Amino acid sequence: MSRELAQSARKRFGQNFLIDDRVIDAILASINSSPDDSVIEIGPGYGAITSGLYSSGCDLTLIELDRNLVPNLLASFVNKSPSRCRLINQDVLRVNFGALGTQLRVVGNLPYNIATPLLFKLLGHGGQIKDIHVMLQEEVVNRIAAAPGNSAYGRLSVMIQATSSVEPLIKVFPESFVPAPKVDSGVIRIIPDKSKRCRVQCFNTLTYIVRQAFSQRRKTLRNNLKEVISLNEFDYLEINPQDRPERLSVETYIELGNYIAQRRSSA
Ligand code: SAM
Repeated sequence: MSRELAQSARKRFGQNFLIDDRVIDAILASINSSPDDSVIEIGPGYGAITSGLYSSGCDLTLIELDRNLVPNLLASFVNKSPSRCRLINQDVLRVNFGALGTQLRVVGNLPYNIATPLLFKLLGHGGQIKDIHVMLQEEVVNRIAAAPGNSAYGRLSVMIQATSSVEPLIKVFPESFVPAPKVDSGVIRIIPDKSKRCRVQCFNTLTYIVRQAFSQRRKTLRNNLKEVISLNEFDYLEINPQDRPERLSVETYIELGNYIAQRRSSA
């Protein structure tokens, strides 16, 4: 079976299929889905995680890009329970999440090449999403969860932590997949948080400020933000312009973003 999986895996779809029952069980236990849940699984593949989700009785929407996997997913899940299970054969980045409902629980062993744009897309729908459990490269998990001062702390950490709580859950080694990826992986839980989201006055401005601030990690905030903020304003906001971007807390980035958003709206 493993050999067949390895032979069928398509690199351009980021296919590394989970074959380790202990990891699959641990993922399912951390999701703990029930018949009351609306679960969206991204990239079900051959159904390694899907089987357990399906057995939990939840409402299940599968989003799978690879056409070759569709017949098996239809036969194993959708056609057995069409009233609570459906398949969208499309690139998840093109799927209109607005039409998928509310209180969504998003799950996926993600194709690593689309992980970052997908997370930003999901956070844009944070109001509809109850929680997210995804497998990512361990390095990306570390970046998402990193604290200020840590070398992994950057744009992804600030933008996700500004709107959500994050919790790394499981480390996964390459042998748990076929074909084995070159790097370690990890599962992370991300919970979009309305109270956090409300503090951000303008998401686009925060995105812009954070991108500018981290544009050159080794340079100072003064240098990276010189087009955006004056020395007097650094002083007013009590931010040291000589600091490197990784020194600033998520809170301070939010304050900075809100200040710029207000300044722009009153200009
Ligand atoms: N969930 C399965 C497992 O754990 O064994 C497969 C995981 S594999 C890492 C990623 C899955 O995402 C594959 O089934 C792949 O075809 C699918 N995929 C890749 N790109 C996608 C995209 N843009 N939209 C939806 N699915 C995608």
